[in-house]
Amino acid sequence: MRPILAAALIAALPWAALAAPVWQTVSSEPGKRIELDRTSIKQLDGGKIQATGRLILEREIVDAKSGAGYRVIEATTRYDCANRNAATIKRVFKKDETEVLREEGLRVVELPVRSGTLDGKVLREVCRPGGESIKAVADKASEAAGQLKSANEALVKSESAKPAKKAVEKEKPSVLTRKAEDRRALAAAEVPAPAPRLSRKARAEAHAREVAQAAEAAERAHARVHWSYEGPGGPENWSRLDPENILCGTGRRQSPIDIHDGIRVDLEPIKFDYKPSYFRIVDNGHTVQAALGEGKITLTGKTYSLVQFHFHKPAEEKVNGRGFDMVAHLVHRADDGQLAVVAVLMEKGAENPFVQTLWNYLPLEKNVEVSPPSPAVDLNAFLPASRDYYAYMGSLTTPPCTEGVLWLVLRQPVQVSAEQVGIFSRLYPRNARPIQASSGRLIKESR
Ligand SMILES: [Zn+2]
Repeated sequence: MRPILAAALIAALPWAALAAPVWQTVSSEPGKRIELDRTSIKQLDGGKIQATGRLILEREIVDAKSGAGYRVIEATTRYDCANRNAATIKRVFKKDETEVLREEGLRVVELPVRSGTLDGKVLREVCRPGGESIKAVADKASEAAGQLKSANEALVKSESAKPAKKAVEKEKPSVLTRKAEDRRALAAAEVPAPAPRLSRKARAEAHAREVAQAAEAAERAHARVHWSYEGPGGPENWSRLDPENILCGTGRRQSPIDIHDGIRVDLEPIKFDYKPSYFRIVDNGHTVQAALGEGKITLTGKTYSLVQFHFHKPAEEKVNGRGFDMVAHLVHRADDGQLAVVAVLMEKGAENPFVQTLWNYLPLEKNVEVSPPSPAVDLNAFLPASRDYYAYMGSLTTPPCTEGVLWLVLRQPVQVSAEQVGIFSRLYPRNARPIQASSGRLIKESR
């Protein structure tokens, strides 16, 4: 469709005028301008504000995905004024102020806002404390819309009238268009343009520096989000919180899994060598974890020492699609560093004396270990009567999701009372990583 025809068609539609945004310039500097659509400002629940802002660049950027150029990036974002966080939910790349090149919906990830960025400038505007109400500001902005529009047009005109002395923005496409899952694109566009008339090599180096800086900034922003089981730090984002967590996203032998279709063979019994011992217990912010004085298991000639054990609610692993109320993971390590985790599934039933002793000494504070001088506990008493098990290779179920972990899931669950589950639930209502793909892994099962 010819542009002129399209314009005529849009002009003929009455609703087109109603939906028109009112752009207000919130920041203007050589090469770029940041604007806020006053009509887009919406008050959300929880004191959050949603708004659409846009970055208008003087020079076009080449989009790596389509090869076409764009000069305008619009971002719709939810701002958490109190915590200075922002979650961008949609980004639109436009050739100019009207023609859309492409759109991308984003996974909602709340990140801290850095001042000077598009988000920083829009947040400052929409979260102004003690100022006029959002509505009043919007109304006023509407009145002043014509004025702003002409001012903006004048700015664009003066910018486009400038001689084409630098192709700086063209140097950035790979930063701006690389898998823009976070604010990297906008962050990169915020990097001050290097001085004009640089040699090709110098520009390439400057570009590389910008890429590195943008990546670092993004990593830093992510690093401030601690991993958890929900929200921005939740399992779907673990791999992006820290470069070390890469396997959480890309690993092919991750845990937990739904255990099914195992081959039934005569599995060598696990030789448990646990001794009654005093214990240490800590609420580490992710689970309740305990450690004993000594304990080890031996399997296929290899000995693994007990390092710690901890609990999840509900059980992370499933068996033939069936879930369990809780699970205990008994983490062991061999001298060569290999980990072996014995999983004891727990289902509601009778009170569990071993668990009760631990719960009696639950620390009142997180990250402060408690070491009661008595009583001693016996982990043997916690194990189920049958030691039949499933075996498969998997990973840690928490970041950094390290693989090469030997999983030994005991088939028979032990019982724990509803009250005991309830106590754990007060601390951790849900601390289980979702089921991961088995990807054709071999599972062995005692027959
Ligand atoms: Zn665990």
